[in-house]
Amino acid sequence: MSTEVLERSKTKAKPRATKPFVPDLVYFEPDALNYPKGQRIMEWVKSQEIPYRMTTSHNRITNLPGDTEQEQYRMAKRTLVVGIRKTLKFDQSKPSAEYAIPISTGCMGHCHYCYLQTTLGAKPYVRVYVNTDDIIGAAKNYINERVPEITRFEAACTSDPVGLEHITGSLSDLITFMANEEYGRLRFVTKYHHVDPLLQLDHKGHTRIRFSVNADYVIRQFEPGTSRFEERIEAAGKIARAGYPLGFIIAPIIWYDGWEEGYSELLRKLAEALPPEAQHDLTFEMIQHRFTKTAKAVIEKRYPKTKLEMDIEKRKSKWGRWGQNKYVYPDDQQTALREFISEQIFEHFPLSNIDYFT
Ligand code: SF4
Repeated sequence: MSTEVLERSKTKAKPRATKPFVPDLVYFEPDALNYPKGQRIMEWVKSQEIPYRMTTSHNRITNLPGDTEQEQYRMAKRTLVVGIRKTLKFDQSKPSAEYAIPISTGCMGHCHYCYLQTTLGAKPYVRVYVNTDDIIGAAKNYINERVPEITRFEAACTSDPVGLEHITGSLSDLITFMANEEYGRLRFVTKYHHVDPLLQLDHKGHTRIRFSVNADYVIRQFEPGTSRFEERIEAAGKIARAGYPLGFIIAPIIWYDGWEEGYSELLRKLAEALPPEAQHDLTFEMIQHRFTKTAKAVIEKRYPKTKLEMDIEKRKSKWGRWGQNKYVYPDDQQTALREFISEQIFEHFPLSNIDYFT
């Protein structure tokens, strides 16, 4: 073996950085080009030499390339649709916030368990909205209705907007708006580490940024197409140093052989990696894995080799908000997961708050 090869084999290769999303195909609603944001995105698309087409509506994208349904699904995840958000009535977003604020719909990630698989139905492509002023205007009305109560808006209910920020800048718009709202707060969660555009913003502590984290096994098995754990933690450190309130969502919590080691390792690695300033005002949210019968069928079709356990016999059925039974873990497993992970959280982060386990 040559000295060079020997030296290389001694030093562990550094994994490649997860690149920001660049779609393979872009659709524009013609009216989107009447907005500065639509024009900026068009310029970006041209500069990247991405093929684009016009469409009459962001809700009606048909004939995506691909011979099979699976190929079309994969292509849809790499297709960006730039349109106008017409519905300005916000959905509720319990338990993490009062309302979902819609700046994008769909995600380029391939998390096997993602609920967007069913909620987006036949429209898994990534939609971004350029009429941010209208969306902010609607948010302002919701805030005014509830004064003097604080109104919280969740920006990641139907998407992962951090992964799209380099294209839209919409999170920056919302953060800047919310900074001056005495009674408004913004929050969003992400599995992407591309937070640099947010670091210099004047947020006044009105935006809480949370990172979705999980046991190594879960990330490796079920979250392709997202940033690696180490990248997310590094980004969390940057966010903390930029003075944002920080949080972690451990979701979906999965019962697998070795889950106790997996989740205790997760909390230990988090504690080792986070800078001291991140320890103040830190929140945790915990969401156990759940699925519906429809989701199970869709997931098995799209990710036929998935190791995601979805055995209805091993689960407890619970009435879901969307009129379908969902399957969660039986009570004894829920209790074991909740108690064990809570203990680990408080051992490493005694000053943190656990917002909820669901
Ligand atoms: S990153 Fe989030 S929104 Fe995107 S596929 Fe994964 S779970 Fe779904």
